[in-house]
Amino acid sequence: MGSESVKVVVRCRPLNDREKALGSKMALSMDLHRCQCFIEKPGAADEPPKQFTFDGTYFIDQTTEQMYNEIAYPLVEGVTEGYNGTIFAYGQTGSGKSFTMQGLSDPASQRGVIPRAFEHIFESIQCAENTKFLVRASYLEIYNEEIRDLLGNNTKQRLELKEHPERGVYVQYLSMHTVHSVGECERIILQGWKNRAVAYTLMNKDSSRSHSIFSIHLEICSTDEAGQDHLRAGKLNLVDLAGSERQSKTGATGERLREATKINLSLSALGNVISALVDGRSKYIPYRDSKLTRLLQDSLGGNTRTLMIACLSPADNNYEESLSTLRYANRAKSIQNRPRVNEDPKDALLREYQEEIKKLRALLSGQPGSSNLSKSCDLWVCIQLSPQEYEEKLAKLQADYNAQQESKAKLQEDIAALRSSYESKLSPLEKTQASRGSSCIIQNRMLFFMLGRQPDELSAEDGVQKSPRRDGPLDSPCINTEGTLDQKHALERLQQLEQEVVGGEQARNKELQQKHRQRKNLAHLRKVQLVQALSQNNEESENVLLNVYNCIQDEVYAKSQMLLKMQSKLKAAKLEIRDLQAEFEAERNDYLATIRRLEREGQLLHGLLERMVPLVRRDCNYSNLDRLKKEAVWDEENGIWRLPDVTVQKTTLPSAVPPNNSPHRGSAADSGEPLMVEEDRYKEMLDRSDSENIVNNYFKPKRASQLLGSDATKGHKTIHSPPLVNGATHLNVSGAIMNPPVSSDAMLPRPFRLESLGVHVSNGKVKRKKSKPHIYNEEI
Ligand code: ADP
Ligand code: MG
Repeated sequence: MGSESVKVVVRCRPLNDREKALGSKMALSMDLHRCQCFIEKPGAADEPPKQFTFDGTYFIDQTTEQMYNEIAYPLVEGVTEGYNGTIFAYGQTGSGKSFTMQGLSDPASQRGVIPRAFEHIFESIQCAENTKFLVRASYLEIYNEEIRDLLGNNTKQRLELKEHPERGVYVQYLSMHTVHSVGECERIILQGWKNRAVAYTLMNKDSSRSHSIFSIHLEICSTDEAGQDHLRAGKLNLVDLAGSERQSKTGATGERLREATKINLSLSALGNVISALVDGRSKYIPYRDSKLTRLLQDSLGGNTRTLMIACLSPADNNYEESLSTLRYANRAKSIQNRPRVNEDPKDALLREYQEEIKKLRALLSGQPGSSNLSKSCDLWVCIQLSPQEYEEKLAKLQADYNAQQESKAKLQEDIAALRSSYESKLSPLEKTQASRGSSCIIQNRMLFFMLGRQPDELSAEDGVQKSPRRDGPLDSPCINTEGTLDQKHALERLQQLEQEVVGGEQARNKELQQKHRQRKNLAHLRKVQLVQALSQNNEESENVLLNVYNCIQDEVYAKSQMLLKMQSKLKAAKLEIRDLQAEFEAERNDYLATIRRLEREGQLLHGLLERMVPLVRRDCNYSNLDRLKKEAVWDEENGIWRLPDVTVQKTTLPSAVPPNNSPHRGSAADSGEPLMVEEDRYKEMLDRSDSENIVNNYFKPKRASQLLGSDATKGHKTIHSPPLVNGATHLNVSGAIMNPPVSSDAMLPRPFRLESLGVHVSNGKVKRKKSKPHIYNEEI
């Protein structure tokens, strides 16, 4: 399996009005032919500009069209052949990422990469011969490290990442939308943008704070000359990243700072992944550090062709950000991917469709009395025909179908008439009908099976009844009628399936084919030029040493020129070291600021916990913080702590009187010796109550639970009291959310002490209210 490096191009936008008004100067310049980009440090004219070389450089006048044709075209074309491809735009906010990815509709040359990719993919699909495609699209965003489906029913729902041994990392429950044309793709992406826009307005944020990924999934079925089908699958990810600016520069605070930290987390995780991949020494690549890197895992060092478009502002006041973007991009160039054609994908929907189509065809052609319809199922064969022939055949089939519908309607009218006239003679015929009805069921079940669905799954919209009607003996033609209906449904399903796939519609359009070929050639030519330009850059320096000179002066001149160049390079390298150190320092300060903030937050939370834990009832597992910490498990997959369920140990006090002696607990008179013990205890307590406000304290939950807790344990260990009546009852609460504390009243066992004192209580609060004055009065 061959490897290829990630392609990186840079694009510089013109100065915007704000920058012009500020009197900003251009810090960036480019040599388009050599694909070099230079950046000058403002206020350091004596320092040579920093120089970077990429796979393409696009300055302020270059259009998205040019960029797409030169560099993106081969990548997207590869997707239609079964490769995976990713195009992502990187850069600070306002540098032109969305302009590059989404673009403008006017002028057409500035239409973005995404709409161009739609057009390109459908052009290739239409030109393909003997090949069918199933095209599906999905659109998600990552905001604050949470994934949301921009095309789903609930755009607020947080989706989870999962890993599959064959499919790799994927988003669970992400909606997929089958698309058949460029128009449908555009509608879908517009819908996603709208959902984003609504969310931003509600949450007071803007698109630069989230990462978005629009994906086009292709399943490709090509038929070779021997009539053998070959399946492949390709996927194109179009990524618009959040702004890469440093949080210290934006001066964000509060929620914005939290967002910025998360954005930075994803982007610095992306940076770390890139560094680890480029480093070559690190065995561990930190893909799991952020959602973004996990989703892009295959695009960075995996089975994908990747193009990074680094967007830059030319203004000198953005020098630092632009330099950081250039460095980022420069590192990414060295990532090696291993793209390969995805042959024979295991879970291909297209394969399922084809199998279902075959079954339907067999069913339709095999059914008795379906001679007309059996012609219809030749539809699949039609796909192999030219578009004109296909249209003709389809029209004919449609006409046949309509005629049949008419005759069916007429037949049903006749049946209705017959039914009313024979209604009185129902009973003798009922048995016959029942047997025929059951054959109807079998027939229907067969069809459902062929459709790959359960009868119960079919709704009224499916146009098929769930069970045959049994409303009259003259439903006997029901077999035919229902049979026809079933066939109708099968045909509809067949047509529906056939409409899902696209491909080859313009296979005979010579003009389009020609255009398609030209664009491919242009991209290829550009690639050759690029390789030449890059090798020229490398060779130049070596030539000076290898050249043969006419005289010694020439040699001296050439070599002193070379020396000068080298000296300036050395100087540039030294400056680069200095700048890098300064940049690391700034980054370090950023990290330190984040650590300090997190520490402060942690301290606050810890302080709050310390205060709150003693307030938690003792019989709840959340009263023991150390144990909880031990039991908490970090869920790597979802990046959350899994906390133990909230449980409350509900204990019941040993009864005042052993059950053997007294089945009627509470009857003080029957209790004999234990009663004496209890009486002693109560006397002692009442003595103590001199110093207590019994009315207010006696029934306090805390005191009650303490008393109960200690009594229960003691009772359990020392006194041979009856076993705990209810044992340990757990109150389970799912997830990490704690239930509000259970009312102490509800948890308190019956106040047996009062009972032992002969106070008769009936139940609940009423009894306590009554008992309080009782004790109090007694004491007085
Ligand atoms: P980002 O998505 O990186 O935050 P945008 O794509 O929204 O930035 O671009 C910011 C502004 O700059 C927009 O008004 C856009 O029209 C303009 N702009 C960006 N790139 C170019 C370009 N290459 N040519 C002309 N205008 C551009
Ligand atoms: Mg943007």
